[in-house]
Amino acid sequence: MDANPKPPLVEIIPDDGVELALAYATAENFTGRPVYAAARCYLHPDAAACLRNAIALAERFGCRFRIFDGFRPAEAQQILWDACPDPDFLADPKKGSPHSRGAAVDLTLLDATGRALDMGTPFDAFTPLSHHGNGDVSLEAQRNRLFLLGLMTDAGWDFYRNEWWHYQLFDAKRYPLLHDAELGLGMLGSPA
Ligand SMILES: [Zn+2]
Repeated sequence: MDANPKPPLVEIIPDDGVELALAYATAENFTGRPVYAAARCYLHPDAAACLRNAIALAERFGCRFRIFDGFRPAEAQQILWDACPDPDFLADPKKGSPHSRGAAVDLTLLDATGRALDMGTPFDAFTPLSHHGNGDVSLEAQRNRLFLLGLMTDAGWDFYRNEWWHYQLFDAKRYPLLHDAELGLGMLGSPA
């Protein structure tokens, strides 16, 4: 037995140099209601390390990240899937999402004034316009997506072709699927 096992998840907080705007903790998401009871962001320690790399790199350019989602308990993935069972934009809960392994993050970039860069679509726009390489969004949006892609790739992340906002660890399946019930984080409500 490992005497000092890594904790399954670490919390990401504003002091890490990011803005948290957890869409599923509000009604401002495609389900139209809050999915999370707690607006807290957790990642696997390996993902948190890659995020720290990306934060440092973005700082060089006077930019910060706005995070829309990090760890998504497996129970929450089921709720999202039931609202939108589209495998182009959501992982089937039977296979499991990299988010439910703490190994994915959804985010955009803010400039030095705190304004979000134009990425051509909002977060969670389930349309081909959200795909990387789509030439129907403005050139500025394409450039901003490539900037985000460059920062995140350099920091150690893999991308997902259909969603400009989604990044995940390479070979994310090696991390176990995690449930709110087993972690006791209270992300889906219940504990005081
Ligand atoms: Zn995502």
